[in-house]
Amino acid sequence: MGREHHARFPRTRARLSAATGAALLALLVTALAALPAAAGGDGDRHRAVRAVRVHEQARERVDRLREADALPAALEEAEERRKAVRDDLWDLLWAGARETGDPVAVDPSGRAGHCPFGERSRAPERRSSAWTAPTRRYWLSAGYAAKGSRWARRHTGQDFAVDSGTPVYAVGSGVVRVTTCGDGFGNQVLVRHQDGYFTQYAHLSRIDVRRGQRVAAGQRLGLSGASGNVTGPHLHFEVRITPYLGSQVPPLPWLRRKAVRVSGAPALPWLPDRPRPGEGGRRPGPR
Ligand SMILES: [Zn+2]
Repeated sequence: MGREHHARFPRTRARLSAATGAALLALLVTALAALPAAAGGDGDRHRAVRAVRVHEQARERVDRLREADALPAALEEAEERRKAVRDDLWDLLWAGARETGDPVAVDPSGRAGHCPFGERSRAPERRSSAWTAPTRRYWLSAGYAAKGSRWARRHTGQDFAVDSGTPVYAVGSGVVRVTTCGDGFGNQVLVRHQDGYFTQYAHLSRIDVRRGQRVAAGQRLGLSGASGNVTGPHLHFEVRITPYLGSQVPPLPWLRRKAVRVSGAPALPWLPDRPRPGEGGRRPGPR
């Protein structure tokens, strides 16, 4: 993953004009150098949080220009800015992930983790270019940025409470970039989409795709489960700017931009005598 990324670097940089380069430099100085270079850990985390915010602002700018039918040059420059912010964030997080032994950076094929692979799934018969929800008959449990005893900081995705063995689908077409097994996310799949974002599907009981496989919207990636750091079955769904933890964005607004509405009440208050949301608690409600 790292090698592929770095191979892409020179091409990206070569297209930059001098003017774009100067504007870019100013942006990066603002985005990444504002915080002191604290030794490792928290300093990097703050830089990443800041870069994610700047990236999302840059993406909104690209969207606005596109909607306004802006000149191609202006659009291209905005897009180059967005990519430059993402590339810096990617490098930062990749280095951190290597250091901590994150399998996404160390063994993205999942071989070391002995993934429970099923047969490769195929694209659905009735293909659709539309985006879709990652599973069906779910109950929304722990929401994005929720606080909980299970997370060192804040919850990085959206949890969908489902029974073990429920099919999990790619929300859009893309390429499977990572399958890893054995860490806190259990058995997980990461898909890269055409718009550059990654979606993560974690705690699976079975994986039905392979690294490098193209998938269509609605294609089965595997089955939900309770692998990794959980107390019960659910799907952990995350949207990221890079393959690495620390580049996540709010997943439900991201899906809404793709015209996907997930039903159900997010972040319902939970009662002390029930399992906490996101820990696999079965809840009454739409199934
Ligand atoms: Zn989760």
